[in-house]
Amino acid sequence: MKKNGKIMCPSSKAQIGAQLLGVRQEDGTVAILPQPLRIDESFIEKANEHAHAEQRFRFTNKCIASGCAQWTGERCGVADRVISLLEYLPINEDIIACAIRPQCRWFLQSGKQACQACPFVITETTEDEWLLSEQTHPTLQEMIVFRK
Ligand code: SF4
Repeated sequence: MKKNGKIMCPSSKAQIGAQLLGVRQEDGTVAILPQPLRIDESFIEKANEHAHAEQRFRFTNKCIASGCAQWTGERCGVADRVISLLEYLPINEDIIACAIRPQCRWFLQSGKQACQACPFVITETTEDEWLLSEQTHPTLQEMIVFRK
């Protein structure tokens, strides 16, 4: 997938210009699509019908770097936080096929480790999940849901 040679954010919002990157599974992890899919207004509307789309799907869009609250000045802070939690995750050694890899901000920052943690990242957790993560591991809030 090429998007003007830009660096891509793998945990973006459901909005025009974004592409569908992953779908949340029953066990809470995200199945990353080998090739992101274009989305349109009607998909976004439907995906937001009962809850925020970012609770069930992952989207990719151009990384806006300093325009994003997660930007630390030089890097994506989300990627760094995710990598710091790798030891708590039931990761696989093999990484999944992913078409945005050459342009993915997280991969460019952290390599294979980013891809190992990636399926555990939920862009937006539900209120219940937020409370659960607060009890189990405060730093997991907003981004990771543990479900084995
Ligand atoms: S972290 Fe790895 S698996 Fe996840 S979107 Fe980036 S390249 Fe793909």
